[in-house]
Amino acid sequence: MKRKKRVPLYLQILIGMIAGIIAGLVALELNGGSFIVNWIKPWGDIFIRLLQLVAVPLVFVSLIKGVIGLKDIGTLSQLGVKTIGIYILTTFFAILIGLSLALFIKPGDVLDYSMVDILEEGYQGTVAQAIAATQEAKGPLSFLYEVIPDNIFSALSNNRCMLQIIFFALFFGIAALSVGKERNKAVVKLVDSIYDIILKMIDYVISVAPAGVFALMAGLIVSFSGDIKLFGALGLYAVTVVAGLLFLIFVFYPVLIKLFTKTSVKRFLKNIYPVQLLAFSTSSSAATLPLTMEVAEKDMRISNETASFVLPVGVTINMDGTSCFQTISVIFIAQVLGLELTFAQLLTIILMTTISSIGTPGVPGGSYVILAMVLTSVGIPAEGMALILGIDRPLDMLRTSVNVTGDVTVALMVDKNREEKERLGVD
Ligand code: ASP
Repeated sequence: MKRKKRVPLYLQILIGMIAGIIAGLVALELNGGSFIVNWIKPWGDIFIRLLQLVAVPLVFVSLIKGVIGLKDIGTLSQLGVKTIGIYILTTFFAILIGLSLALFIKPGDVLDYSMVDILEEGYQGTVAQAIAATQEAKGPLSFLYEVIPDNIFSALSNNRCMLQIIFFALFFGIAALSVGKERNKAVVKLVDSIYDIILKMIDYVISVAPAGVFALMAGLIVSFSGDIKLFGALGLYAVTVVAGLLFLIFVFYPVLIKLFTKTSVKRFLKNIYPVQLLAFSTSSSAATLPLTMEVAEKDMRISNETASFVLPVGVTINMDGTSCFQTISVIFIAQVLGLELTFAQLLTIILMTTISSIGTPGVPGGSYVILAMVLTSVGIPAEGMALILGIDRPLDMLRTSVNVTGDVTVALMVDKNREEKERLGVD
């Protein structure tokens, strides 16, 4: 898998982003918004579809390959326990960071109350959908049941069924591992070869990333322009969320990298950059997954066994940015509505956000249903989320960058431990 290029990928994507922003602003100035919407934005949507197209086969095949490549099933369960344990811990810290910032800054106390109606006006539909979805949900632990597909082909045909696909791939991989090398060799050969072909497909898709990102950003600027005035009203809330997210990227993860991996922080930040930019432009950690995996294995030298397990699992269950944002949002909404949260309610927010982040799909606005659920769990009317939706897109972009950074950080931590254990012969 070679990327022949003179300009580094992150720079190409960055140039695409900046050019897209400029094109969007120019179009607005010249009243050409509809040109962007009709002729430019669709190319961005096509780019996202291409990424989504390769994501499911990539996860499926690379996970089977990863499991078959392991020494034994014990290694897999150790990897699983460690990964999920670290994911829950990082989510928990992200929530604590959000909680401290929201309680300290109190962004809801300064909102001009006359803005509440204006803010709520435009988003009733989205809120109603999210509330309806929470009523359908069977409870925070229903994901355990839903993780098991009753039909692998229907799971494979739905991008939102990532955990079900992971479950089947693990199950299949474990069975293949236990029948032994002699009997699984045909599958190993086939999987290896399909894997190489899929990587090539990803290379093709990533090579058009700068153009895709250009189209996405131009489209976003045009569609977001009407909501700019909301930034004034929600300024302090946005600043609180951004502060939490930047703290995670520039302080929390670098500290973890420094303490628990052999990678230098500088190298980590340099390599993760294109992944963050793509996550930022697409607002979808699932669509970013093909690049996340490529960068993790190729540039960060994370083993295929670790990357193919830790990263797809992380896309669905590890959402540090989203969890930090949700905590701030819940407290903000309570503050605006003049509701005093008790200590027990704060604990419920922490618990519910930790558990429910596991079921958040890595798509734009994937967290709305969960946000509605957390609000309801502490007795805050879920309708209150309409307050923040007007400026959510840019915040979604940033929290998605945090989500993918968290996944790669944990993959590095887990891989480092595995490497060491293998070196010491402990496995
Ligand atoms: N857009 C986020 C992601 O894909 C999910 C969310 O916070 O809404 O990771």
